[in-house]
Amino acid sequence: MDQEYLNLLVDLHKHTERQGPGSAKMTKKAINLAGISSSTKLNIADMGCGTGASTIVLAKELKANITGVDFLEEFLDILAKKSNELDLGSYINTLNCSIDQLPFKDEEFDVIWSEGAIYNIGFEKGVNYWKKFLKKDGKLVVSEITWLTEDRPDHLEKYWKEAYPEIASASEKMRILEKAGFSPIAYFVLPENCWLDHYYLPLNKTYDNFAKRNSSKPHTSEIIQTSKQEQKLYEANRNYYSYGVYIAQKV
Ligand code: SAH
Repeated sequence: MDQEYLNLLVDLHKHTERQGPGSAKMTKKAINLAGISSSTKLNIADMGCGTGASTIVLAKELKANITGVDFLEEFLDILAKKSNELDLGSYINTLNCSIDQLPFKDEEFDVIWSEGAIYNIGFEKGVNYWKKFLKKDGKLVVSEITWLTEDRPDHLEKYWKEAYPEIASASEKMRILEKAGFSPIAYFVLPENCWLDHYYLPLNKTYDNFAKRNSSKPHTSEIIQTSKQEQKLYEANRNYYSYGVYIAQKV
């Protein structure tokens, strides 16, 4: 992807609360299912945190030491500003780094969290690589694009095999977790409102201003069209795919 295209994607996505499907309610649900609480001071990494939708919820709920990791400084700056405004600055640090080349020590974290981001490095590679940074019995909470059914339309299969060849069903993802040395402890599917009310609909409201701000740039309308097409694909096929949220413990 060229730099100009990436800059436009950042400009489109930095004005909304989240950069991928999810919700505060589902982050809290995952916290509960992971069996973690504020009773001990946890060390948490939020991989691919973006502007910090989940990071902020983790800080509020767990009062933990949280490192939000992302390779886009513009997103991290927004997270840092937001966390100070909400008086959560003492819980949150940001780290500009690629999530597949981390500077952490082995067994540094009690919890590794990641919403809507692991596909960028691939689920199998990601969970295998991140495991060493978790303490024994530490928890991994990760959302990942998942087939919800055994059968699906050919065109959809073809689309996803090109967009993200690692898309698979939950049982296959759990097998990968087991092979990587995790014990799966819970799984749930992000409901429709995580895609529509919390992701695409807020994004829709920003298209006009995005187009005005970037009217002179060649890729502006293409980026809006691609985003609209992704939304249509989801709306037409919501019964076939979603993000699955995988909660597992390091063995
Ligand atoms: N977790 C946030 C953002 C999800 S979008 C949310 O749920 O709203 C995916 C994020 O991963 C983006 O912020 C993007 O900048 C980041 N990202 C993609 N590839 C990355 C990489 N290799 N290293 C670090 N961050 C990456």
